[in-house]
Amino acid sequence: MELFNTTGSRPGALYAEVAFSLPLDQTYSYAVPEALSGLIGAGKRVEAPFGKRREVGYCVSLSSSPPPGIANLKSIYAVIDAQPLLDSHMLELTRWVSAHYFAGWGEALECALPAGVRYNVGSRELIFLAKSAAEALAEAAAWGKRGAKRRAVVETLAANDGGLSTSDLAARAGVSSSTVRAVIRTGLAAVKSVPARVGRPRREPPVRRYETGFDLTDEQRQALERVSAAIDAGRFAPILLYGVTGSGKTEVYLRAIEKVVRAGGQAIVLVPEISLTPQTVSRFRARFPNIAVLHSHLAAGKRHREWRSIQSGSADVVIGARSAIFAPAPRLGLVVIDEEHENTFKQETSPRYHARDVALQRGRMLGIPVILGSATPSLEAFHTAQAGAMERIDLPNRVEGRPMPPIEIVDMRAERDARKGYTIISRRLEYRMREALGRGEQVILFLNRRGFATYLTCRRCGWVGKCPSCDITLTFHRSKDLVECHYCGHAEPPPVACPDCGHKNVRYYGIGTERIVDEVNALFPAASVARMDSDTMTTRHSYTRALRDFRQGATQVLVGTQMIAKGLDFPNVTVVGVVSADVSLNLPDFRASERTFDLVSQVAGRAGRGPKGGVVVVQTLTPEHFGIQAAARHDYLAFARTEIPQRAELGYPPVGRLARIVLRGENEEKVREASQRVRQALDQAGAQGVQILGPVPAPLARIMRNYRYHIIVKAPDFESLSSVLSSARKLLRATGSVERIVDVDPLSML
Ligand code: ADP
Ligand code: ZN
Ligand code: ZN
Repeated sequence: MELFNTTGSRPGALYAEVAFSLPLDQTYSYAVPEALSGLIGAGKRVEAPFGKRREVGYCVSLSSSPPPGIANLKSIYAVIDAQPLLDSHMLELTRWVSAHYFAGWGEALECALPAGVRYNVGSRELIFLAKSAAEALAEAAAWGKRGAKRRAVVETLAANDGGLSTSDLAARAGVSSSTVRAVIRTGLAAVKSVPARVGRPRREPPVRRYETGFDLTDEQRQALERVSAAIDAGRFAPILLYGVTGSGKTEVYLRAIEKVVRAGGQAIVLVPEISLTPQTVSRFRARFPNIAVLHSHLAAGKRHREWRSIQSGSADVVIGARSAIFAPAPRLGLVVIDEEHENTFKQETSPRYHARDVALQRGRMLGIPVILGSATPSLEAFHTAQAGAMERIDLPNRVEGRPMPPIEIVDMRAERDARKGYTIISRRLEYRMREALGRGEQVILFLNRRGFATYLTCRRCGWVGKCPSCDITLTFHRSKDLVECHYCGHAEPPPVACPDCGHKNVRYYGIGTERIVDEVNALFPAASVARMDSDTMTTRHSYTRALRDFRQGATQVLVGTQMIAKGLDFPNVTVVGVVSADVSLNLPDFRASERTFDLVSQVAGRAGRGPKGGVVVVQTLTPEHFGIQAAARHDYLAFARTEIPQRAELGYPPVGRLARIVLRGENEEKVREASQRVRQALDQAGAQGVQILGPVPAPLARIMRNYRYHIIVKAPDFESLSSVLSSARKLLRATGSVERIVDVDPLSML
């Protein structure tokens, strides 16, 4: 009897490739039992034997011939999804993510699907009639007197179009849930699991229509024409929309999206998490009623519903934070990334992807335009445009000709000398604040450090307060009366005496936002001051309230961290103070200048947004720094033209490519040894022009009891970077007491 054909496979047999959500470089092959062959499909999840366990994985492809060279192929146990969660494009995109970022395909798939979708959150068990209403009512009529309660259940179901939950049904019929179950046993009703509601997204109540009436400025019109040409061409087109704050970039996005939606397409708009405010969303919703919003703070069920409305094609526009780049839009025609230079577009867990680069890849695969918008473009985007691989469109002027606010630099060294001591608010800033407050205007003070004092030390022996688990100095929070570690959250009461020598004189140095509030209160006792940082903004509500108070003028001075650096638009703010521009400048990171330039520019953008104009005061110990100088002149181009050659000289991005390998563990000796072995493996792979630095202790040498070493790989291009990493794959994948992290195109060097 011949069971197998010549290739060794059953006629009509199917074989599945499965990716598991683990840091694995490969997929695994399985046989598909005949009973499952009608159910399985690429993009669906399956349960399969993996080692000794039963694991959930993603079927990424199917084939009718068995994988060569494998005897005794195991079989899939079950198919989980009725419909594929991912189409072929999303499978291809996630595969690219896994290869590019050195992660497992399954990890990338998992990352592309919100947890609410994976766990089917929001789907409900509903009860339906199992027969036609007429039949069911007729049968129930025969139940007689003792069946009155059960009959009520059937009548309720018959009067209702869709299904009802057990509790809802019982309440409406006026019976207990055991009666409902009794009806189900009769076979007249049945339970069905109903996926989260799909369909047209709920229409929000009408919102104030934003700026739809005006005509575009000439600059905006030209920008839109170029974007439209790219849309019409139906090709991949990366576009950098470089426009100063208030130049009307958002208006250009809106009209480009309009064009795509009118032609039946969908668009994804990515904004930094912090900008995803109701204000932003309603500005889009005013133009596009069928909007889906995706971000990590959504309840799982809600997110599942939004995701389904995108997948079914009923949402025209998706607006969301980083992970929305994986929105399963079947008719995607345009991707917009606003504030593309923002670091939050990079994910800091595996897969460590950058949404900008995923967007560009998605655009390439689908042949659609991708617009990157920014007032201070990432040097990566800018350099790509300079090299001719991206179109650059400039919006150099604000709409309605509003001037950019002048920026005054205060030399804090001179201030210190003149005032014979350390100063928090310079005379210049105090003067500007007094002027503004006197006219009933408002002030924003920015400092990217929270707490009261960021450093405590013993005056006698030099002891420094450090976290017991991290190599980090403790920050004193006066309102909580605690000293805290900002990395692991460790907190303890402030020391009454030096733990080393017993000396009573422990001193506090370094200022944080809490200290600034104190200082403002001392200088302007009549002004009402609010603080916005992650200590005070513990709920979404506190955030909304703080902003409302400021908008209504109940607060005159707003002190905060990066939380207030971006996006806020308050026309009555005429003075913005950067209390210390040096915080980001002094980080051991090759991007320190860029960070500082961005920060000063962004914060400055909060001033002078109304007709009253405004002024920005930047305090620094290094006023001569070119980044600060360029920011003060609102001169991004000068900054980029100075910074890029410096990066080039050192082989850093955007000119070269980088990967960072971090090894961490509790035993420092083991961490060091493992790092050295990785280094040796990388050396052996060595490719032309590739430079390997380290291992050395990372700038944050110990976090949560883990010692951290890192190795930096610099390469002239992605291919050589990737080939060097791949050849050390075995060591980079090793598990044990030393954890290994590979970060391709890293943003954090700490
Ligand atoms: P950006 O995104 O570049 O910061 P926006 O698109 O938010 O700029 O525009 C800044 C402000 O100018 C908004 O209040 C917007 O409504 C308004 N605006 C945009 N384009 C025009 C225009 N053509 N005429 C008048 N006002 C405009
Ligand atoms: Zn001491
Ligand atoms: Zn700590």
